Amino acid sequence: MTTSEAERVPGHPALRLAVVDPATGEAFDEAPDQRPDELDAVVERAHRAWHGWRADPVARTAALRAAADAVEAAGDDLARLLTREQGKPLAESYAEVARTAARLRYFADLAPRTRRIVDGRPVRSEIRWRPLGPVAAIVPWNFPLQLAAAKFAPALAAGNTMVLKPSPFTPLATRLLGSVLATVLPENVLTVVTGREPLGARLASHPGIRHVTFTGSVSTGRAVAEAAAASLARVTLELGGNDAAVLLDDVEVDLIADRLFWAAFRNCGQVCMAVKRVYAPARLHAEVVEALAQRAKTVSVGAGLDPDTRLGPVNNAPQRARIKQVTQQALADGARAAAGGHPLGGPGYFFAPTILTDVPPGSPVVTGEQFGPVLPVLPYGSLDEAVDAANSTGFGLGGSVWGTDLDRAEAVAERLECGTAWVNHHAELSLAQPFAGVKDSGVGVAGGPWGLYGNLRPFVVHRPQEA
Ligand code: NAD
Repeated sequence: MTTSEAERVPGHPALRLAVVDPATGEAFDEAPDQRPDELDAVVERAHRAWHGWRADPVARTAALRAAADAVEAAGDDLARLLTREQGKPLAESYAEVARTAARLRYFADLAPRTRRIVDGRPVRSEIRWRPLGPVAAIVPWNFPLQLAAAKFAPALAAGNTMVLKPSPFTPLATRLLGSVLATVLPENVLTVVTGREPLGARLASHPGIRHVTFTGSVSTGRAVAEAAAASLARVTLELGGNDAAVLLDDVEVDLIADRLFWAAFRNCGQVCMAVKRVYAPARLHAEVVEALAQRAKTVSVGAGLDPDTRLGPVNNAPQRARIKQVTQQALADGARAAAGGHPLGGPGYFFAPTILTDVPPGSPVVTGEQFGPVLPVLPYGSLDEAVDAANSTGFGLGGSVWGTDLDRAEAVAERLECGTAWVNHHAELSLAQPFAGVKDSGVGVAGGPWGLYGNLRPFVVHRPQEA
């Protein structure tokens, strides 16, 4: 899928992007489709704003705290718009807005530490930290606000300015967020630009940008890294995942089934670190399939604005087509759908929550990232076999191990090749922890103090020691 499939408003005199409500499949609003050459002036203004913004850390802290308050005050409008363009249930949009504000508050109070090196020589070396300059952030459509905040909160706290480009599938809530933040931040400290490719490619290669922080697919991440090489800007990439959940033979299926189901199906499976494969001991496999299929068949699927909805539509038509294609491929490979297995009829981009069994391990739904409401459940014989299978893909974002003996489960979790491993849950993160994928899942570290330092460069002052 490429974002060039987001559509222009037909016959509109200016360049506008049509924004579609995934629950209806109908365009309901529009956003500017900015041209790449508009970025020169935007980056220039971000550069000028940087000199004032970097100068006063106390004012920055106050402005970022005020930004968190402003986001909360606009919570109703942000959440409704987010659900409208992204599809997720309204309660999840409210949670996303809350996480956006929390991220701002966390980084508002985080400052880098100056350090002195003491090594016996009669010199004083002091390590200080300086911001980089204008940072470009490019984010996907699954969590438009919270992923943007994961980038602008540490970047701005570090004293940088930012040009932020959301996905053309979800430009509206981010534009509203930009206007809300503009009421409390100095002008041009955060600028939101919207449009189709090659807007992102141009932003990533712009000579005035000093750090490109990208979240999205592995293939686009590679293109972004290549584009940023032109200016040798720093690159942080948070890419796709294919997280495995390994169930141990002492797991109590009834106790964990709800948590496991939602670890895979939250946000309609469109989560980088959703559970995307389940490995169950052969003895428990049928019970696990049954427990998950029962939930998939009964969960309420519908428009995100409907208060009864627990699972919304897929965000966009190309993504639903991709999910359909990998599911059909799995069925053609010999898999059986214990629940779902097909798009839902009617308007919108709905797909029946799907549990697949008898899936050949080489099928793309196992080896690749389905990024939708489809979950393969695979049986294993020995634990070594399960760990090898969990580690067998090119991804390494997260993973989890589920069982009753926590020490044993943790020992198995330590064998997973990924950035974060959980025991008996999945994808829960603290603002204070590092977030980094291994293998194709990413480059660089976000989150916590690591996210702050990822937006700073060391500056060392070296002078003779006072007598
Ligand atoms: P995508 O890679 O298609 O697009 C991501 C962003 O890049 C969008 O804003 C898009 O417009 C822009 N873009 C597209 N082509 C570009 C180019 N050549 N140069 C610069 N920018 C370009 O991803 P998507 O389909 O929007 O999102 C889904 C993917 O994001 C999944 O693979 C998912 O796992 C990943 N993701 C990762 C994380 C993480 O933290 N690791 C979090 C959320 C999503």
